[in-house]
Amino acid sequence: MTPSFRITLLPGDGIGPEIMAVTLDVLKQVGSKLDLEFTFQEALIGGAAIDATGGPLPEETLTTCRNSDAVLLAAIGGYKWDTLPRELRPETGLLGMRAGLGLFANLRPATILPQLIDASSLKREVVEGVDIMVVRELTGGIYFGQPKGVFTTETGEQRGVNTMAYTDGEIDRIGRVAFETAQKRGGKLCSVDKANVLEVSQLWRDRITALSEDYSDVELSHLYVDNAAMQLVRWPKQFDTIVTGNLFGDILSDAAAMLTGSIGMLPSASLGAEGPGVFEPVHGSAPDIAGQDKANPLAQVLSAAMMLRYGLNQPQAADLIETSVLSVLDQGYRTGDIMAEGATQVGCKAMGEVLLKALV
Ligand code: NAD
Repeated sequence: MTPSFRITLLPGDGIGPEIMAVTLDVLKQVGSKLDLEFTFQEALIGGAAIDATGGPLPEETLTTCRNSDAVLLAAIGGYKWDTLPRELRPETGLLGMRAGLGLFANLRPATILPQLIDASSLKREVVEGVDIMVVRELTGGIYFGQPKGVFTTETGEQRGVNTMAYTDGEIDRIGRVAFETAQKRGGKLCSVDKANVLEVSQLWRDRITALSEDYSDVELSHLYVDNAAMQLVRWPKQFDTIVTGNLFGDILSDAAAMLTGSIGMLPSASLGAEGPGVFEPVHGSAPDIAGQDKANPLAQVLSAAMMLRYGLNQPQAADLIETSVLSVLDQGYRTGDIMAEGATQVGCKAMGEVLLKALV
């Protein structure tokens, strides 16, 4: 019997629809080649949802996502919606979806592809061979902690408040995902916190240390976040798997992303305890190049590969996509963000076309 999967597509805003169109063609071709049946359902999120329905995450979208096997998201946001009240902003839709689907673990690989070493802003000897996985906690910490808001004090001053809080249960479940990820990789886990200053980080460190007893095959280390940021650009090869909270992970995963030369190459997976995962590029909606056929679709395409591997358990299909991406890079095709001397510059659509040719 042909395996069949229901996939929710969330193109979102900016370059989202452009890179999603390329990825959809790739998935269709992979499906017909490997005899996999995909049913695609498109839904609204972010600015596109605000324009159509008044809110960034219509209930219908969340229901469609819940009823699918995996969710493929492009990106949300743009200048047009930047001045809306926070609860109506595109980003609120994204946070709501992560919470609504219980996606507490975000896996972001930062792997240097040999073809793109020169796209990195760091020296070749520093980045060659870098292969890092950042496991970021996604539904807790300062982005969700209460109290939050802007309050007026007794003296009439405005006071903005956010709260960084983690329970032991929240730390343990992300910790286990991280230890298990490290087991499948190089067997090294670095936990990043700010335990010298923050009580919430001390609890984080204590729990991760306690958990390590269950994973004697993983070598655990700890770093303060400021040092981790420094080490990431000083000697990134020292890292295998990194686990950290929501805020620190947001920042460090972008720094790790830049080691690879382009944010346009990086996929991510967000997973919960059960139900569909969400697979999306690390980059945003790039409003500065939207609609100009300049976007690099490869992070989105590689997100589809992660979806096939981690969400739908189809490693052969994931391999096929990843091999095709390497093949078009080997043939010298580059979008503007990863352009190098002697390469052939192509737009988003043309990159899609050469990818389809490489999917043999
Ligand atoms: P961004 O990632 O959208 O863009 C940063 C820079 O990288 C820009 O110069 C952009 O042109 C370039 N870039 C990004 N993706 C690219 C690609 N695929 N190909 C070529 N170049 C690419 O980040 P930003 O400018 O800080 O944010 C823009 C909007 O995206 C904001 O509204 C922000 O809130 C939103 N955003 C959304 C997500 C998401 O959907 N998960 C993540 C980050 C930012």
